[in-house]
Amino acid sequence: MSNENKTIHDFEFNLICDFFSNMERQGPGSPEATLRALSFIDNLTDKSLIADIGCGTGGQTMELARHAPGQITGLDLFPGFIEIFNRNAAKLNLQDRVKGIVGSMDNLPFEQASLDLIWSEGAIYNIGFERGLNEWRQYLKPGGYIAITESSWFTDERPAEINDFWMDAYPEMDTLPNQVATIYKAGYLPVATFILPENCWTEHYFAFKTAAREAFLHKYAGNKTAEEFSELQFVEDELYRKYKEFYGYVFYIAKKVG
Ligand code: SAH
Repeated sequence: MSNENKTIHDFEFNLICDFFSNMERQGPGSPEATLRALSFIDNLTDKSLIADIGCGTGGQTMELARHAPGQITGLDLFPGFIEIFNRNAAKLNLQDRVKGIVGSMDNLPFEQASLDLIWSEGAIYNIGFERGLNEWRQYLKPGGYIAITESSWFTDERPAEINDFWMDAYPEMDTLPNQVATIYKAGYLPVATFILPENCWTEHYFAFKTAAREAFLHKYAGNKTAEEFSELQFVEDELYRKYKEFYGYVFYIAKKVG
């Protein structure tokens, strides 16, 4: 029984990895948004230690590395993403400063109070916004920064179709002002907040997803799990186009206090 489950789990794990590994990024975002977030951070030197948690294949990490000094460790649960990440770092000749490692965000391998900056785009939902903020804080130096994106409600009320979809997929999803309050309560001073522009979804995410979907369906033709997975991706994209005034991704930049 447990063996059977493991096989199914592994299969899905590989499927998801396969779908997203051909994409430049695995979530909404853009080089411009990454640089805008970086512009609020003023404590970095060549000696700085930076972690990019849930880095995926490293689209945003390489952008960060090209514009910020210091050593960057990218961490992700999927070994396939980390392989691509390290290949990308080498291609850009960044391998001495940028390293990808396999690990889990709920058990980080960093020393207490060692990091100058924690970066995490589109990934903290895997552990939960509040839990991630609370647990990751211990790895930051006093005065260190955190820069994260998280999905956020823009209104207190929203149509049932979109509300139910996200409350089922991610019940912790909250409104922007509540998320700022959560950051503050977790022991950080909120420094800047901005909503990711629509092109972070359409141009830099959905366009790649559409291409990835075609290649994926071709490779896994006739595979029911693969078809269902691909269909769900399509539903997510359509919902965003229909309800984008009610939710989106927000970049939060905050500084550890105390
Ligand atoms: N930051 C990247 C990837 C976002 S997708 C980008 O913006 O493009 C979310 C990432 O979180 C995926 O790469 C996924 O493998 C990773 N992830 C999921 N659960 C994780 C965990 N427990 N620990 C570390 N990474 C995890």
